[in-house]
Amino acid sequence: MPKPKLFIPGPVDISPATYEAMCSPMIGHRGKDFEALYASAQPGLQEIAGTKRPVFLSTSSAWGVMEGAIRNLVQKKVLTLCCGAFSDKWFDVSQRCGKEAEKIQSEWGQPIDPDLVRAKLAEGGFDTVTLVHNETSTGVLNPLSEIAGVVNEFEDVLLIVDTVSSFSALPIPTDEIGVDVLLAGVQKAMALPPGLSVFVVSEKALARAETTNDRGYYFDFLEFEKNHQKNNTPSTPSISLLYALDSMVSSIMEEGLAARFRRHSETNALVHKWVEENGFELFAPEGFRSKTLTAVRNNREIDVPAFIKAVRERHNFLINGGYGKIKGKTFRISNMGNETAATMDELLCALSEVLPEFI
Ligand SMILES: *Cc1c(COP(=O)(O)O)cnc(C)c1O
Repeated sequence: MPKPKLFIPGPVDISPATYEAMCSPMIGHRGKDFEALYASAQPGLQEIAGTKRPVFLSTSSAWGVMEGAIRNLVQKKVLTLCCGAFSDKWFDVSQRCGKEAEKIQSEWGQPIDPDLVRAKLAEGGFDTVTLVHNETSTGVLNPLSEIAGVVNEFEDVLLIVDTVSSFSALPIPTDEIGVDVLLAGVQKAMALPPGLSVFVVSEKALARAETTNDRGYYFDFLEFEKNHQKNNTPSTPSISLLYALDSMVSSIMEEGLAARFRRHSETNALVHKWVEENGFELFAPEGFRSKTLTAVRNNREIDVPAFIKAVRERHNFLINGGYGKIKGKTFRISNMGNETAATMDELLCALSEVLPEFI
């Protein structure tokens, strides 16, 4: 049976151009060809990441860099802003790294309130904050600029932001709003195969890392900085994925960031329209809705796993049945990556064809 086309919120469907790029000839990573490949992706990545700082490349999924950021930056206490599966997990990961951690917990489906962040930081003792920009488990887009503004009111508090499912799909003005570590895995909004992450580290964050003990080696930010000077990575990277990344960055630059952002807004709006026309509700409140995926509240109480199975068997499309504790109470549809109005229409028509049997 052919593999279904993925409309789950990561990994997502991969373009033929990406697969082709991944088959480029293998090269050694300590030579001129590799340096050229590394350097080639930088300007585009910097534009996407809204930064003049280097964009480091880590051969790991996002959690590697998420854990690395905690190990590099937290000396006193970290405040984790929790509002869904990925942001909640960061509290647990911080503790497992042996760091003192406190959290602000929003109900799943609700965003983080910047005023609560201000009140908590005012209690003192914190030196780091973690935020998930686009909480993929609930479809909530957090108010990044407002939260960054609040964190920057507190000198010596650094902000780490996970943009795994928003990177390249909407503007992220990292330098302008003052984000200290910005990170993203590539298998979601970037529509590449999993296994690689990109991240930006501010000068302030690098200075902090210099005085932090037990940074380890694989995710030591200072190693990334040192190797970046030579257009290289600390250890052998996934070179095939770097070819794919470089090819994707070129295609994003060709499309133009503004056009790419517009395309995501449009395809996302198509999904929202389908949700409303079919009597479902959006899980995230207005003003805080993801542009790359839609979490649909199962208010019609359909049998979600059976619905998904039928869509897969009859149309060979795969959507997701909800994450963690909201499995079955929600389902999720991704419009991230290379999807267009035409390809989203194909999916939505398939959903419409199957749905009546489940009502
Ligand atoms: C998928 C996801 C992660 C985890 O990524 P891994 O690739 O599994 O490490 C982290 N944060 C967000 C917001 C995600 O969507």
